[in-house]
Amino acid sequence: MHHIALITGAGRGIGAAIAEDCARAGYDLALNYARDAGAAEALAGRLRRETGRRVIAMQADVADEAQVLAMFARIDAELGPLTALVNNAGIVAPAARLEDMDLARWHRLFDVNVMGTLLCSREAARRMSRRHGGAGGAIVNLSSRAAQLGSPGLYVDYAASKGAIDTLTVGLARELIEEGIRVNGVRPGIIDTEIHASGGMGDMLPAAVRTIPIGRLGRADEVAAAVLWLLSDAASYTVGAMLDVAGGR
Ligand code: NAP
Repeated sequence: MHHIALITGAGRGIGAAIAEDCARAGYDLALNYARDAGAAEALAGRLRRETGRRVIAMQADVADEAQVLAMFARIDAELGPLTALVNNAGIVAPAARLEDMDLARWHRLFDVNVMGTLLCSREAARRMSRRHGGAGGAIVNLSSRAAQLGSPGLYVDYAASKGAIDTLTVGLARELIEEGIRVNGVRPGIIDTEIHASGGMGDMLPAAVRTIPIGRLGRADEVAAAVLWLLSDAASYTVGAMLDVAGGR
């Protein structure tokens, strides 16, 4: 099968590392991003040059239905039938206790992390499912170890949004497997990307290392390797699994 993948939030961090691995494995790619066009366009250009694959950067807020629909229509027209989706786009909000959080923060967090994953999964299923004449495919969802650890005092809202991703992965995997779509998830631990600075947590990373049994932060490429395996035929009997990539945390 010729592989065509959409990776959301692929301009930077873990998504960029997944894009790198997928392009080298022979996938044609749509690299979604929200705001940082420079990072996504530079990555797309470099991967085109280095791998010869078709790689297109696509701006869309995954929380916005019209933008998601437009992005999938563009993939249909410019790349062809989708065979893989990585729901990677995700945000945290500044570290806080629950009683200091407001509703707007929760709406945005759940809109991006949960609604974004639901919207993109729906559009992918409509294209990949044999029920709709598709050829099957694979979906990998980025959850977090926070889904199980809960992130008390930091961002219980983010952790709860990732709990929703775990449950969605289990349900969707069983709903879609008969139609040729394998759905799985990855739970990263603390990975060295810019997401921590966006949550005002950058300075706390050295202290956080003490909570990681392996004794260091994870790298984006270490998460990407797990995602690539779950997408690949090597994982053909792996359905509804959540793979922890967390250094023992
Ligand atoms: P990151 O470095 O902050 O990068 C986030 C990426 O998502 C960027 O490309 C960003 O686009 C994109 N994005 C943000 N909001 C978006 C939206 N509304 N629509 C489309 N794209 C959007 O994050 P990361 O650390 O690589 O995290 C990637 C995923 O792994 C997230 O789901 C996160 O929750 C999960 N995760 C991360 C860690 C960790 O320690 N890093 C641990 C567990 C789970 P722009 O470049 O345009 O801003």
